[in-house]
Amino acid sequence: MDNCIFCKIAAKQIPSKLIHEDEDLLAFHDINPAAPVHFLIVPKKHIATLADCTTDDQALLGKMFLLAPKLAQQLGCGFSMENGQPTGGFKTLFNVGPNGGQEVYHLHMHVLGGPRPWNRSM
Ligand code: ADP
Repeated sequence: MDNCIFCKIAAKQIPSKLIHEDEDLLAFHDINPAAPVHFLIVPKKHIATLADCTTDDQALLGKMFLLAPKLAQQLGCGFSMENGQPTGGFKTLFNVGPNGGQEVYHLHMHVLGGPRPWNRSM
């Protein structure tokens, strides 16, 4: 997709701090982090918003959700139970459209974690 910043990142036309790449997905650190750990999981395929996903994208969405805890764990913000108490953890977020606060119209999941308070609310 012309003029899509995340398509350009996927095509390596602009740099990113890459965390993960496979045949369908990229994950990279957010350029303006709102938390100690803030990365984006992005499909290589251009889909504008979550509202544009169809049943054809079910597996892709499932893959995004399963990748989030795996990468959060790798980056030190995984969720676990310690001595019966929940510890760590992260937030996943899709902004959809202007009222959802979406600024980049290429589907992406925000993953935010690390000790609170965070820089800004998301
Ligand atoms: P919002 O900016 O309100 O969070 P989005 O949900 O559309 O809106 O999120 C786009 C995200 O992409 C923002 O968190 C922004 O910091 C991030 N971003 C924009 N350009 C880049 C880039 N080149 N590399 C990494 N992250 C980027």
